[in-house]
Amino acid sequence: MKKLISGMMLLVMLFCCLFANSGIAKEGKICVVTTIFPIYDWAREMIGDDEGIELTLLLNSGVDLHSFQPTAADIMKVASCDVFIYVDGESDEWVEDALQETVNPDMKVINLLETLGDDAKEEEIVEGMEAEAEEEGEVEYDEHVWLSLRNAEKLVAVIAETLGEVAPEKAETYAANCADYIAKLDALDMAYGEVVEGAAVDTLLFGDRFPFRYLVDDYGLNYFAAFSGCSAESEASFETIVFLSGKVDELDLPAVLTIEGDNHRIAETIVGNTQSKSAAILTMDSMQATTAKDVSNAVTYLSIMESNLDVLKQALSR
Ligand SMILES: [Zn+2]
Repeated sequence: MKKLISGMMLLVMLFCCLFANSGIAKEGKICVVTTIFPIYDWAREMIGDDEGIELTLLLNSGVDLHSFQPTAADIMKVASCDVFIYVDGESDEWVEDALQETVNPDMKVINLLETLGDDAKEEEIVEGMEAEAEEEGEVEYDEHVWLSLRNAEKLVAVIAETLGEVAPEKAETYAANCADYIAKLDALDMAYGEVVEGAAVDTLLFGDRFPFRYLVDDYGLNYFAAFSGCSAESEASFETIVFLSGKVDELDLPAVLTIEGDNHRIAETIVGNTQSKSAAILTMDSMQATTAKDVSNAVTYLSIMESNLDVLKQALSR
């Protein structure tokens, strides 16, 4: 009898492992799948210590969201989950096919751009940027919606509400977690506002791609950048470099900014072409390649946005 039980236990464990690996939640667990780190971290905050939910971060290899190619297992995870949360930007074109494979008729899908409605912004070209070959008449929304604390406040509320619909007995807990989290977002938003208000400089200059449009707009900052949004281009033209170097001189900017990643060559070239050559090169993290490994090192959406505020402070003070 003992042998039989331990044999069965082994089978059950094997079964659980198989299913855990293929991304299907264990019996009785609600399965929530998120694409990128900021969404994952927001959902984690709403869930709190509720062990009835299994949360998955899909883009977890350190490859940025624009280069993501889903595997068959990823498609399976999306198709079989209870709640799926994604941005629905240009980089999420694969999602449509995955959703067609859906096996769960009660699945809830949260589309962040749609949730933001009129607060979603179209990509913008400002003076000095590399011109991009655009398809005629096509509206392209800026998909980096998570880089606004104010967007975050709206989006976490919808996430908490949806979780409450899937697990009504826990709805109050999710709502309470949400209220706590929104208070933190709100406090950080105020801190950003104070830094910008007291700053000597009102313009940011990115010698890089520019995913921070939502953030600069929240605080009325001006900006220049080498590329609009996240262009696939990695080379800036002579004209772009000259224009941006000229702006650093003209506005006496203390810093040229970059986003995360190792290649800061454009920013270095811009600084090298200024008269004083003294602007600092500073990096703001747009969380496009953050992984569960970073999460295990206690990195959170809030901790990254706090670090970004420190960088912003330096970039705005002479
Ligand atoms: Zn991007």
